[in-house]
Amino acid sequence: MRVGIAFHEKYQQYDFGPGHPFRGDRFSNSMKLFEDQGLLKLPHIMVLQPEIARRADLLRVHNRNYVDLIFDFAEKSRPYDLDTPVSPPILEAALYIMGGGLKIGESLCAGEIERGVSLGGGLHHAGIDFGGGFCLFNDVAILARFLQEEHGIKRVLILDYDVHAGNGTSNIFFSDPSVLFISVHQDPKTLFPGTGFIDQIGKGDGEGFNVNLPLPPGTGDNTYSFALREIFIPLAKEFKPEVILANGGSDPHFADILGSLTLTVDGFFDLSRLIVKVSEEVCHGKVVLHIGSGYNPSILPNCWYALAAGVSGLNKIGVKDATKPPVEMSWCRERVKATIKELKKILGKYWNCFR
Ligand SMILES: [Zn+2]
Repeated sequence: MRVGIAFHEKYQQYDFGPGHPFRGDRFSNSMKLFEDQGLLKLPHIMVLQPEIARRADLLRVHNRNYVDLIFDFAEKSRPYDLDTPVSPPILEAALYIMGGGLKIGESLCAGEIERGVSLGGGLHHAGIDFGGGFCLFNDVAILARFLQEEHGIKRVLILDYDVHAGNGTSNIFFSDPSVLFISVHQDPKTLFPGTGFIDQIGKGDGEGFNVNLPLPPGTGDNTYSFALREIFIPLAKEFKPEVILANGGSDPHFADILGSLTLTVDGFFDLSRLIVKVSEEVCHGKVVLHIGSGYNPSILPNCWYALAAGVSGLNKIGVKDATKPPVEMSWCRERVKATIKELKKILGKYWNCFR
C-alpha cells in the first residue's frame, strides 16, 4: 500500500495576510511536523510535487465567466469579497493546490499509489459561479470530475468533514446522482455558510444524493463518530463508489477559533482511519483526503498530522492535545440522534439502508 502526499512550496503564497485566519505558513508547519514525526521517511510514503492546474481543469466545474472574473481580480489584486483576497501569488498558489489534487488523481489511476493526501486542499466553498469563505476554486470537485471525465470512474463519494458545510461542492453536484455528497458540519444556524440543512437533498436526478448532517456546537469525538457510523457507512455501502474523496482540516477541533465542534487530535486520527476502513470495504481502499482548513495555528499541524497518519496506515501517533476538550453537553447526543432519525426518514425514499 502506497500513499502519495501532494505538496508544493508555492502553496505558501495562499496567504491572506496578517490578521487573517488563513495564513500560508500552515502548509510548511505541517510538512515540518510530518518530517519530525518520521512520516515522510516511511518507505510507502511518496511526496508528489504538482504542477499548476490548467484553465481547462477549472472549467470542469466552474463556468467561464467566473474563472475569467477571478483571473481579472488577480491581475488587479482586487478581493473577491471581504474574507477572500485575490492577487497574482494567491491565484498561482490556488492553481498549484488544484494541481495537487489532480496529481494525486493521476498517480492513483496510474496505480502508483492507493491512497492520497492533497495537502492544502478542500476549498469547498467555491461553487459553479461563485467563491468565498477563503475559496476561489473547488479542488475536490475538480478532482471528482477529472476522475470521471479522464479515467472513466462513474461513482464518486465525497465526505466533507470540515466544520463548515460544503456549500460550493453541494452546488456543483446538486443535480448529479454520480457524486454522492455527504457533508457533516456544525449546525449552519450557528456558522458560515448558513446552508447545509437536512432537507437540502439535491434536485432532479440528483435528488437524494446530497446529504447534510448538521451537528450542534459542542459535539465531541464519540458523538461525531456515532453520526458517521449511522449515516456515512450505510450510504457508502449502498452507493458503492469507486473512490472516496474526503475533505477537512483542523477546524472541527475544540480549540479552533472559527468552529465550535469539539473534536480532539485522537478524534481526527480515528476519523481518518474510519474513512480508510470504509474505503477498503467499498472501493478497494481508493481514498484521497484534502486537508487544508484550520484557524488555530498552534493545533493545526497536530490535527493535520493525525489525519495524514491515519491515511498512512499508522496504528498510533506521537502527538496529542496539550489540554482536555470541554465535556460534551448531556443533551448533545440526543439532539444528534433526533437529527439522524429525521434525516433517515427523508432519505428513506432514496436509500434502502434507511427504510
Ligand atoms: Zn472550514
